[in-house]
Amino acid sequence: METKRIYIDSQAPEPEIIEEAAKLIREGQLVAFPTETVYGLGANALNAEACAEIFKVKGRPQDNPLIVHVSNLEMVKSLVVGWNEQAERCARAFWPGPLTLVLPKTAIIPDAVSAGLSSVGIRMPNHPVALSLIEKAGVPIAAPSANLSGKPSPTNGIHVWKDLRGRIPYILDGGACNVGVESTVLDLTGEIPCILRPGGITKERLEKILGEVAVDHPSENQLPKAPGMKYRHYAPKGELYLLIGEREKILARMTDEIHKAHARLKKVGILCTLESASSLHSQLPELLFVLGSEERPEEVAASLYEGLRLCDEQSIDIILAEGVAKNGLGFAIMNRLEKASGQKIWYV
Ligand code: AMP
Ligand code: MG
Repeated sequence: METKRIYIDSQAPEPEIIEEAAKLIREGQLVAFPTETVYGLGANALNAEACAEIFKVKGRPQDNPLIVHVSNLEMVKSLVVGWNEQAERCARAFWPGPLTLVLPKTAIIPDAVSAGLSSVGIRMPNHPVALSLIEKAGVPIAAPSANLSGKPSPTNGIHVWKDLRGRIPYILDGGACNVGVESTVLDLTGEIPCILRPGGITKERLEKILGEVAVDHPSENQLPKAPGMKYRHYAPKGELYLLIGEREKILARMTDEIHKAHARLKKVGILCTLESASSLHSQLPELLFVLGSEERPEEVAASLYEGLRLCDEQSIDIILAEGVAKNGLGFAIMNRLEKASGQKIWYV
């Protein structure tokens, strides 16, 4: 299949480009598009066949549900049962934005979208291209991240092109995503709102408007409430080790590990904060990727997947990643790094 990758103005999307993409969605085809979190691989959420195609193209496990994207509140009401006070508050405070709300679904959501669950995850993305695409298509758009399953999510149009070229007809390339990690998934089906996946909206911000907010910790013997969370995610090909502790100790351990890896002729990639970069640079790792300043976690979030993808492109064998503080956006960053490491965490 030939894939068209079209540049679009991310702030003022050209109507004729949006119309072309929206027409494909209406016809049951797949379109990749930018959102503020990561790029999405979209299909008409009310068309079961089109949604089934998303799973095929990505190689996504059938039991991992899709998030449905809407452009206005009217749309939501037809998709969920029991839109409640909590949902209303969340939508008012954070939509459009990186927050997905899980609520009981109506019958018009195909089982393929919810992976057989009785609930559905919905969000209104904060991106002019995504919003105008949904609006013009006139239907909600189901979209997981536009990467091959298991790979780091795409945060620019080139990432999508590299993963999905030849598999989908159309990519809207609006440049880099500014949040860079996926949405927070919040389950509103129980009495206490529960974070199933940390993301762009922090727990602290949710608590301000909802009061108590729980965090789901899926354990081995319990069925995860967010089915997608059991899969290997965000993972580069190289072995990633996550280092947590004081800076001096992290630097010492990384230095040591660089030498050990080089003795085995392995290529080393370092993902670290700006504050650590100059010390590590002199140890000559094959790749040194600065995620951003520890003072600005939003920088780290925005560059994380680019860093992971670069490690793959440069065939890095051993990746040493510096952990960040787990509060605020750091909670989502560390969640992704832990998963990318396959739980290979060193407390130094
Ligand atoms: P993504 O691949 O980034 O689109 O991930 C979508 C994720 O949202 C899934 O892997 C689930 O963890 C979560 N999700 C979506 N819908 C539901 C739902 N109905 N119930 C629980 N989690 C959901
Ligand atoms: Mg994904």
